[in-house]
Amino acid sequence: MKVDETRLLADLEHLGKIGLGPEGGITRRALSREDAAARAYVADRMRAAGLEVRHDEVGNLRGRRKGRDGAAWDSAVPVVMTGSHLDSVPSGGKLDGPLGVVGAVCAIESLNAAGVTTKRPLEVIVFVGEEGSRFRRGTIGSAAVSGHVSVADVLELVDPDGAVYKDALATYGDEGAAIPARAAAGSIHAFVELHVEQGGVLEAAALPIGAVTTIAGLVQRAVTFLGDANHAGATPMNLRHDAFLAAAEWALGIERGAREIGGGVVGTVGKLTVEPGGKNIIPGRVDAICDLRAPTPVLLSALDDYVVSSLHGIGEKRGVELEQQLLQRVEPGPMHELAIVAVQRAAAEAGLGHMRMPSGAIHDALHMAEIAPSSMIFVPSIGGKSHCPTEATDPRHLAQGVAVLAHTLAILANDP
Ligand SMILES: [Zn+2]
Repeated sequence: MKVDETRLLADLEHLGKIGLGPEGGITRRALSREDAAARAYVADRMRAAGLEVRHDEVGNLRGRRKGRDGAAWDSAVPVVMTGSHLDSVPSGGKLDGPLGVVGAVCAIESLNAAGVTTKRPLEVIVFVGEEGSRFRRGTIGSAAVSGHVSVADVLELVDPDGAVYKDALATYGDEGAAIPARAAAGSIHAFVELHVEQGGVLEAAALPIGAVTTIAGLVQRAVTFLGDANHAGATPMNLRHDAFLAAAEWALGIERGAREIGGGVVGTVGKLTVEPGGKNIIPGRVDAICDLRAPTPVLLSALDDYVVSSLHGIGEKRGVELEQQLLQRVEPGPMHELAIVAVQRAAAEAGLGHMRMPSGAIHDALHMAEIAPSSMIFVPSIGGKSHCPTEATDPRHLAQGVAVLAHTLAILANDP
């Protein structure tokens, strides 16, 4: 199956201009004017690829290709779905999300051009609000499709400016009647998402394709360290209750714990505010947030327990009071062999080197895996960079990812 690489790159280029800021990053918040413009472009591309386009109650854009029974939306045969998102983090890159969207449309065009028909219908879906950079939660569109959250709860989400989700949907314009967002039981045969890896594993292995076996789970905890703010010159070292040093000791402990537990767990303290924040004042208060990820629930709990229990000793030793709060826990999402093996087979058929690998980042496939056999296709990220303007992938790898997606869809939609 041939992929129109020129078309693919032109699509990515076009989307890469929508929401482009002076610093070279792309900002497309969910249900913003930029998000709507990108979505309208993709809707046109879907129609050009022969898809029957609909939208659902939470604003997911959905295009279907008929199965062999001649039916698209009214087919009784379970559908094979693929897709990703168009929203971005603030000043993000141009591949995270869009590759899995226009790549899916290009994969459909490859199937069309090769005259490949399928027993099951194929659907390309654009999920709303994956990044969580506007509303309180991320993966909104896929959580609504899987039933992880109710449509009613999604519609009542409020952004920091007070805008309500159901009103913000008007940004997409009057599109007529929406179809239900939540998938009926048994209506999806399989789901596969093409995405940039956002890490450096494939690059280091010099392989173009990753077949994702699991999506790491996540725990985020907020911890406040309360010490004594005091004079940095007049207070001897043995009379201090330095909130920052307590936080620093805790953060170093997270690094140590993650290394000791191993098995792919990672821990980060990426947010820290130090008060009062004077260069000649001993820190009296630190607010910190840790982010812990692991491929299995057991490993996630092991790291989380380590991180929580390390706090007690530190507080006592340093005479610092602690308050902590669980912000969220998301369980790891195992992918399904039916879909993982299809990706591996597709890569082999396309003559491409591949490996099975976990995803450290959360994706829409996490929720789709709750209701249908799912996997993801990863392509290498140059330098492992993502969520930044320098996010990039070799164009050859982008086209190879689309070729593997096209093969995977054909396998999943035709196999018994
Ligand atoms: Zn993404």
